[in-house]
Amino acid sequence: MKPFPFDYARPRDLREAGALLAKVGEGARVLAGGQSLGPMLNFRLARPSMLVAIHHLPELRAVEQTADAVTLGACVTHTAIADGRTPDIGVRILARIAENIAYRAVRNRGTIGGSLAHADPAADWLCTLTALGASVLTARPGGGRTIPIAGFVPATFRTTLGPGEIVQAVRIPRPSADARWGYYKACRKPGEFAFAMAAVLLDAARGIRRAVIGAVGGPPVVLEGDRAVPGAVETALAASGLDALERRQQAVALKRALAQAAT
Ligand SMILES: Cc1cc2nc3c(=O)[nH]c(=O)nc-3n(C[C@H](O)[C@H](O)[C@H](O)COP(=O)(O)OP(=O)(O)OC[C@H]3O[C@@H](n4cnc5c(N)ncnc54)[C@H](O)[C@@H]3O)c2cc1C
Repeated sequence: MKPFPFDYARPRDLREAGALLAKVGEGARVLAGGQSLGPMLNFRLARPSMLVAIHHLPELRAVEQTADAVTLGACVTHTAIADGRTPDIGVRILARIAENIAYRAVRNRGTIGGSLAHADPAADWLCTLTALGASVLTARPGGGRTIPIAGFVPATFRTTLGPGEIVQAVRIPRPSADARWGYYKACRKPGEFAFAMAAVLLDAARGIRRAVIGAVGGPPVVLEGDRAVPGAVETALAASGLDALERRQQAVALKRALAQAAT
């Protein structure tokens, strides 16, 4: 199938992109790497009247690091992160997540901001960045805002972004030097979306013991403190609609992520 006809705009900067989105309104859609939007257009699941390309904008490729955090522009690609061309928050924490997303051709174009904005419950960044306590920084007419990723995706393929609001960057706090991290993604073959996944951050110096279960068909499930154990999965996922086998798979994913964090 082919997409419905649409106009295409390539703004010079973020301000112009915002103005275009505001002018065209509901029919306009941001285009980043196109790795999710492209198939949606082809299947006519999305029928925008205009695509506003943003992947080339320098403001959305900016990278900043401080003692506390790394901030990655929304249009930084998975490949740039996997290849270590951007700063990491620890020894290959972000790189290892990125290199397990899809396969190279998708990673070359797919972006961290596009992944979050697409709000697929099985997306790797959504689960892992929730565990890491990251925030989305946005740009919108009248001033951007900071949105904690826990809560950024209230439902499948939905975010709390307002009309015309663009993900500008993602701020990822650095774990303490002695923090432990684990991430386990279960998929049928490499490069596929996960059918079960869990991420664990044990950061005693910051008082954090957090486990996040992803790929649950809705927002990630966050288990804090004493609840960050495989035994809590059954209760936490009781209302998720997952069947007994799927809940068991999630418990195993969490057990393996915890084991990684313990080594
Ligand atoms: C074969 C295949 C396998 C994949 N496997 C995985 C996988 O294993 N794990 C995984 O996590 N992902 C996977 N993906 C998805 C991939 O990571 C995409 O790159 C990502 O979901 C979307 O990023 P994008 O930059 O291509 O966004 P686009 O496709 O350009 O946009 C996606 C949506 O987000 C909106 N959007 C994009 N950027 C912004 C922004 N800055 N501000 C506001 N809205 C924005 C768009 O309007 C659109 O609605 C896979 C994709 C494919 C095609």
